[in-house]
Amino acid sequence: MRIGVPLETRPDETRVAATPETVKKLISQGHQVLIQKDAGVKASQPDAAYEAVGASIVDAAQAFSAEIVLKVRAPEAHELKQIPSGSVLIGMLDPFDQHNIDAMAAQGITAFSLEAAPRTTRAQSMDVLSSQANIAGYKAVLVAANEYQRFMPMLMTAAGTVKAARILILGAGVAGLQAIATAKRLGAVIEASDVRPAAKEQIESLGAKFVDVPYETDEEREIAKGAGGYARPMPEAWMKRQAALVAERAQQADIVITTALIPGRKPPVLLQSDTVARMKPGSVVIDLAAGRGDNGSGNCPLTEADKIVEKNGVKIIGYTNLASMVAADASALYARNLIDFMKLIVNAEAKLLIPADDDIVTACLMCRDGQAVRKN
Ligand code: NAD
Repeated sequence: MRIGVPLETRPDETRVAATPETVKKLISQGHQVLIQKDAGVKASQPDAAYEAVGASIVDAAQAFSAEIVLKVRAPEAHELKQIPSGSVLIGMLDPFDQHNIDAMAAQGITAFSLEAAPRTTRAQSMDVLSSQANIAGYKAVLVAANEYQRFMPMLMTAAGTVKAARILILGAGVAGLQAIATAKRLGAVIEASDVRPAAKEQIESLGAKFVDVPYETDEEREIAKGAGGYARPMPEAWMKRQAALVAERAQQADIVITTALIPGRKPPVLLQSDTVARMKPGSVVIDLAAGRGDNGSGNCPLTEADKIVEKNGVKIIGYTNLASMVAADASALYARNLIDFMKLIVNAEAKLLIPADDDIVTACLMCRDGQAVRKN
């Protein structure tokens, strides 16, 4: 089949949906690969690296006109128009954006959004949320370290002793756990919290202290387990107790990293504005939920998407695409996720064969041959 890889055009998007490694595999499977000129340049993959493994370098119209189009982000309207009816589009296509799903259906294409893959063992190798969140968690710590005006590790020098930075991590999923591991390597002292009961052991196994917000009812305990590998909104009473504890811990912290997301909903507010007001001057907040709350906020109401705002000497960082700041590895992992997914819909003769009974394929299918399949 002809597989097209367009250049990503959204602001600050540096990733690419195929790397020379995955292109080589696709070509060995019998496909023809069309890479848009400069598609990989921002991810340190020049056109020559793709040509060396057998890809053709083409213009945007040719890349979009392929039978399978691989994208990182959902195509913009003018890009979608270039994908022929009957083609297949695979990417991170915003499964909760019904307007986008309807637009893709109207174009007559079949689209798969990999963020909708189930959290199962079989789906792990194509779990784009995990591969990208892992990178975001890592980069969050490095961005924090860069903005923070002090050392991360404890240092004993001839000029005196420097205390280790104290980091509070709220939400210990894929991003939060990687943030703990990265901060630990830099020598910080870490506390972390999550709603999920399983998080305690994971946090402690990485050498951080678990900040416990105890459950007071069976309902709280049940909701905290989440559904399908994702968190559910916690009852207000639990959120209030969490806010009080976070307020106390944040005042001691030098860096706070928030990572809590609830699919299809606004992120929970974990770091209240009055808590930030009481944090130490020079502290740094990194909000990984930036851009998903009201007016571009995230887990903190003061966050502004893709900006650093300063309140009472506290920097609040709202970068919305941290994975893109590690473009080469983010692309490498993402591209592998894509070819693992393609194995489910392309047979050994390199022909499209979309199974009706595969739970991963069904979950990721947004629209098929002009019909919206997913309804939010
Ligand atoms: P996510 O990005 O949706 O959310 C990040 C974290 O925020 C989650 O751990 C969530 O519990 C937490 N959170 C939500 N509301 C919160 C609140 N009010 N207070 C504190 N924390 C809150 O989640 P994720 O990182 O994509 O995944 C979460 C978990 O799912 C992972 O830790 C992992 O154990 C599991 N997972 C399993 C698979 C698999 O089995 N294939 C794949 C990926 C993830």
